[in-house]
Amino acid sequence: MVINMAAGSTEAELQHVIERVKECGFQPHVTRGSERAIVAAVGSGGSRAALEALKAAPGVEDVVPIAHPFKLVSRQTRGDRTRVDVGGGVVIGGEAAVVMAGPCSVESREQIFATARAVKAAGASMLRGGAYKPRTSPYEFQGLGLEALKLLREAREETGLPVVTEVMSTNDIQVIGEHADMFQVGARNMQNFDLLRQLAKAGKPVLLKRGPSATIKEWLLAAEYLLAGGNPNVVLCERGIKTFETETRNTLDLAAVALARELSHLPVIADPSHGTGRRELIAPASRAAIAIGADGLILEVHPCPERALSDGAQSLTLEEFARLMKGLTAPLRPVLAPPNPNLASTDKGGRVNGHSVYPV
Ligand code: PEP
Ligand code: MN
Repeated sequence: MVINMAAGSTEAELQHVIERVKECGFQPHVTRGSERAIVAAVGSGGSRAALEALKAAPGVEDVVPIAHPFKLVSRQTRGDRTRVDVGGGVVIGGEAAVVMAGPCSVESREQIFATARAVKAAGASMLRGGAYKPRTSPYEFQGLGLEALKLLREAREETGLPVVTEVMSTNDIQVIGEHADMFQVGARNMQNFDLLRQLAKAGKPVLLKRGPSATIKEWLLAAEYLLAGGNPNVVLCERGIKTFETETRNTLDLAAVALARELSHLPVIADPSHGTGRRELIAPASRAAIAIGADGLILEVHPCPERALSDGAQSLTLEEFARLMKGLTAPLRPVLAPPNPNLASTDKGGRVNGHSVYPV
């Protein structure tokens, strides 16, 4: 249940509600918005009827059930959208979309530094790079581990780009937390509940990728583990799902980006690299993701994709990445409008082949 405090209610009234929620057998999670506070009462086993009676408490505007199984992740439990600050300066979920870029795997000092410098020059805000790699085959490159973490930290020190890297095991949380600014939970680990429970207490933001076969509800429930465990700094990432299609590596579910932003207050970014698996689709898919409302992108970039130890086929060259970044600021294509005699002399949208176009 959500207890919406009235605008102008007092701190004492809010504290009383918090105490009553605990007495009713639930955990209170308070969001203080600019105008009013919201108390989400979550948990199982408490008395719903007693909570509903809080409608009569001073300072309470209304008490409403949360419509979804994900509670703290639901938009209902917050007045505004969550903004996640990574590394003390990069805000995900604010006005501007954030681009994270870098190689699939950290392979060498030369490779990560060349990439970090180039993506920074092209306008990326964060550096990505895998140190511990989830590979389909045990015979494929598994990542450089600690050595890669040290290189990422050095690249961060030189470029100032905060680092996001994947954590696959609870055993690695501490060492990754010492070197990186954000934990990436990979698609294959979205429902590794032990990992999620421990990341909830790890004190750094989490990028939670959607599992290749996970529904949006399952994805948001995975995020609920992080919020319920005490970590509000969660960013969702759509990275493509498994469908019958085989021409693309995965099917980038852009509608899920929009829907997750409708259902949840958390920022949502897109990963067109894994979402398409094809270099030539990454720039248009990136533009589409931003157009549908994504709060950012995560992209694979490599100085020499043909020599990459993982995901070369979907990695952009440094030049391709710079071109993609320029394209993100280009306007969307104008839409052809039927000729409108009333607009003809004052049309601000310009004309294409004698037809007016809507202003962009
Ligand atoms: C990656 O980011 O390199 C990766 C392995 O991603 P995903 O978990 O989405 O497959
Ligand atoms: Mn990859």
